[in-house]
Amino acid sequence: MNIHEYQAKAILKQNGVNIQEGLTAETADEAVAAAKELQKQTGTGWWVLKAQIHAGGRGKGGGVKLAKSLDEVHQLATEMIGMQLVTHQTGPEGKKVRKILIAQDVYYPGPSEKKEYYMSVLLNRETGKNTIMYSAEGGVDIEEVADKTPELIFKEEIDPGTGVLPFQARKIAFNLGLEGQAFKEMTRFVAALYRAYVAVDASLFEINPVLKTTDDKIMAVDAKVNLDDNALFRHPDLADMRDLNEEDATETEAGKNNLNFVKLDGNVGCMVNGAGLAMATMDIIKLSGGEPANFLDVGGGANAETVEAGLKIILSDPAVKAVLINVFGGIVRCDRVASGVVEAYKNLGNIKVPVIVRLQGTNAEEGKAVIDNSGLKVRSAITLKEAADIVKEVV
Ligand code: GDP
Ligand code: MN
Repeated sequence: MNIHEYQAKAILKQNGVNIQEGLTAETADEAVAAAKELQKQTGTGWWVLKAQIHAGGRGKGGGVKLAKSLDEVHQLATEMIGMQLVTHQTGPEGKKVRKILIAQDVYYPGPSEKKEYYMSVLLNRETGKNTIMYSAEGGVDIEEVADKTPELIFKEEIDPGTGVLPFQARKIAFNLGLEGQAFKEMTRFVAALYRAYVAVDASLFEINPVLKTTDDKIMAVDAKVNLDDNALFRHPDLADMRDLNEEDATETEAGKNNLNFVKLDGNVGCMVNGAGLAMATMDIIKLSGGEPANFLDVGGGANAETVEAGLKIILSDPAVKAVLINVFGGIVRCDRVASGVVEAYKNLGNIKVPVIVRLQGTNAEEGKAVIDNSGLKVRSAITLKEAADIVKEVV
């Protein structure tokens, strides 16, 4: 699960990370009130307005703007709230901005140079440790840095048993070229960021940019978090941060029905029981010249309701040209699944695309008979090869 920048910053602050302070608003008037309140709290006279969407690259897309007066706050907020923000991460249709963050300007002039760094903590599945990835080339697209100048990105492996050791925090601050006050602040920043990452069971906590202000403070200007869905039960407060506006509507619907669903870009919808079989089915679809429109695992206890819910979700995608249902009858009997398909087909009505059902396992022949005798435009198959040939015919 992903959360917004303002929510991630609240987590950082709780764990002792310095942040660019801010308040959220959903209207231009609220934005002005927030700006005044921030002025009281921080003394700032300039503010940045930041679109709260689940995507990066907002700066380049016009989702981060500096305001130098309250009038400007009002004007920029009016423009930003409700806009369809397009960044390199949103796709061409963009995302609607419903909320903005009014933050204190932290790029003010001062005695030393300001500088932007990159830092993230992420799970390293290969070593079973956490990795702190960091670079002095922050503020920009880190993928590009990784691509063109990988030597500018450093990695520090952190043993989850010990956490960040003091020498590791100092090594990071040193490699970033810091001295004096900024060096000290960076070591504290590293420890606090790692603490935040562990506290919320994140799989990624990314800060880009980490800013060294012109008076040598180190702070998080941006924040991106991926929370581990499997740990969400431990964090009801975080689960409440879910913003359904930012998630794929069909994936949300699937979640309600306990279906494992991931939307893809192809034209053949598939419904399968078991994740391994689902992967194999997607391969078969590709080999037949189609592209899977989704991954959908209905799980072990497939019944009429789950089949119907799954079919409905698949058919709601206008790109779908055919549906392949591939079920192995182990615990669940094939004739029961077949009845479920027939019932779902009748209930949904007006299905315009071919539906291919391949049943194998317990009562496979009986299941095929149920499909064949239903009088519906459902094609049945017993072997995967037969199913693949039908898919080839229809896509
Ligand atoms: P992203 O583009 O979605 O990654 O959004 P960020 O929060 O990283 O902001 C993008 C850029 O906006 C930063 O790299 C800065 O250059 C700029 N920015 C962010 N905060 C401030 C601020 O307080 N003052 C000024 N002048 N610029 C800022
Ligand atoms: Mn950023």
